[in-house]
Amino acid sequence: RLEIKNLVRRYEGLAVVDDVSLRIMPGQVTCLLGPSGCGKSTTLRMIAGVEMQDSGEIWVDGKLVCDTHFRVPPERREIGLMFQDFALFPHLTVAGNVAFGLRNGTREEKRARVEELLDRVDLLRFIDGYPHQLSGGEQQRVALARALAPRPRIMLMDEPFSGLDNRLRDGIRDQTLSLLKEEDSAVLLVTHEPDEAMRMADEIALMRGGKIVQQGAPYNVYTRPVDQAAVAFFSDAN
Ligand code: ATP
Ligand code: MG
Repeated sequence: RLEIKNLVRRYEGLAVVDDVSLRIMPGQVTCLLGPSGCGKSTTLRMIAGVEMQDSGEIWVDGKLVCDTHFRVPPERREIGLMFQDFALFPHLTVAGNVAFGLRNGTREEKRARVEELLDRVDLLRFIDGYPHQLSGGEQQRVALARALAPRPRIMLMDEPFSGLDNRLRDGIRDQTLSLLKEEDSAVLLVTHEPDEAMRMADEIALMRGGKIVQQGAPYNVYTRPVDQAAVAFFSDAN
């Protein structure tokens, strides 16, 4: 599980992430939803460990991963990442890409894990192909398989579907969601699209100006908006 406590990040004195706390259980998808510039990606980068918070704590499965005195490096946080522009390695095969983060296990065990994941995203037939031979949607599914291969306890996703055309997006969202559920990661998904959050989230954390202004089940957040700005945000985006 992921717990972040009172996370703050300032740029030039201005808090762009302002006292954000969240808790996400295994198998649960929480959507960090909010308009452009509200601090979503900055929050994710701190959890991933590629950016340092000014204050606050990050815990993974009950272990402190980062506070202002102590910091576990990004590669040892057991966190999977998937971003919109998180490109595949062009010189590696599809199998090579998915196996990239696998450190432990025999060659056979790694191969089995790669095949299992590619089968789950319906791309087993491309296992020995190269990224340039795949469509954007297919590459996205390989990136998902790659991120999940090492069985990360936490999965961070920043607008992972925004590069896809509308026709593909819903199908890939659904496939992604069922795979995430099977893998039992705790998922934090960043989006500025209410539709996506409504479709994928167990819980929505609505963010504005660096703060979480409302948090709850999608239905409750949608039907009982916290204020007029939340009403406008949900209706403007549609
Ligand atoms: P979007 O939906 O557009 O991706 P976001 O919610 O992810 O937006 P962030 O990228 O977290 O927003 O940025 C939050 C604020 O912090 C923005 O006002 C941005 O300009 C500012 N910011 C982000 N990174 C830096 C930086 N390295 N230096 C200064 N300001 C920054
Ligand atoms: Mg962003």
